[in-house]
Amino acid sequence: MTDLRNLSKSELVDVVEGLGEPKFRAKQLYEWFHKHNVSNYDQMTNLSKALRERLANEFPLEGAEQIKAEDSSDGTKKYLTQFSDGTVVETVGMPITQGENGEKIKRLTVCFSTQAGCPMACSFCATGHAGFNRNLTTNEMVDQVVAVRDDFGTHVSNVVAMGQGEPFLNYDNLMTALRRMNTDPGLNIGARKITVSTVGIIDGILKFAKEPEQFRLAVSLHSAKQKVRDKLIPGCKNQPLNDLQQALIQYNQESGRRVTLEYMLIDGVNDSDSDLEQLILFCDGINCHVNLIPYNEIMAAPYKPSSSATIKHWQQALAESLIPVSVRNSRGFDINGACGQLKEIMKL
Ligand code: SAH
Repeated sequence: MTDLRNLSKSELVDVVEGLGEPKFRAKQLYEWFHKHNVSNYDQMTNLSKALRERLANEFPLEGAEQIKAEDSSDGTKKYLTQFSDGTVVETVGMPITQGENGEKIKRLTVCFSTQAGCPMACSFCATGHAGFNRNLTTNEMVDQVVAVRDDFGTHVSNVVAMGQGEPFLNYDNLMTALRRMNTDPGLNIGARKITVSTVGIIDGILKFAKEPEQFRLAVSLHSAKQKVRDKLIPGCKNQPLNDLQQALIQYNQESGRRVTLEYMLIDGVNDSDSDLEQLILFCDGINCHVNLIPYNEIMAAPYKPSSSATIKHWQQALAESLIPVSVRNSRGFDINGACGQLKEIMKL
């Protein structure tokens, strides 16, 4: 069944004419979909009730509904978003506020899911332990962002494809969704404010390098030692580190952009001085920025976060090697909305 939101203006004209309606209805529909990001015919107040009912019957839209939201003490909100087939994913809204009581939202970042569940089976990630359900459609990705925007009632300034799933295993739907977030006037999110985080799928990285937009790339490295990485990210055993390094150099050259390497520090697993040395060697030749991530504990894994002294030591050592570095301020920890904790996949 065609979801009318995927059609161009001229394709919509064909549809409305096929229904015996005047041509201008196509423009009205297009504006509801892409300017107001409305995904429910009932809200389309300039269409007759009869037409709205007919459209709902003949061209149902893939709906998304927020069924639950949890608030964190830091302002972060985690949502469970349910799609028309009952599949549920998680989406996170992270506001940066200003003003004496934090009343004004300066920036709003939305972390959205690209798959329901994930097939990569990373040993440290709750989603990885829960397994894979299915790919999300383009509309299901865009709808997550729209729903958070509407709940906060403010423009979304940044989006990150860092929720459940591996974005590059759903490449085409992902790219169409990113383009809609970038160009729909109702969202209008700058390409440089849109980041995709991949576990390191090499053919995805090489394709992404050729995309004309300035979308940003982050790679979850977590270890520059093959054996350690294979244990942490078993799904990437067939994507060796040497090839990944070459792909990132190619990405730099073809896109002209820097890549972020995400490195989560787990006590006694990937945080020794020799791990650090390997990371510095891996970065050689790559135009990169390293984002150190304190590990968030999950029930399904035995790992513990590295000490803050270790994190500081890594930060200093990388800076001394002239590798730009930052430490991620992970948000929403108290509601399991932090990295790796997105885990509830409920079939209702
Ligand atoms: N599949 C993509 C995007 C989802 S994960 C990817 O792998 O990049 C988003 C980020 O959270 C990744 O860097 C992931 O490795 C990290 N992450 C997963 N589990 C975590 C945990 N328990 N603590 C901290 N970060 C975690």
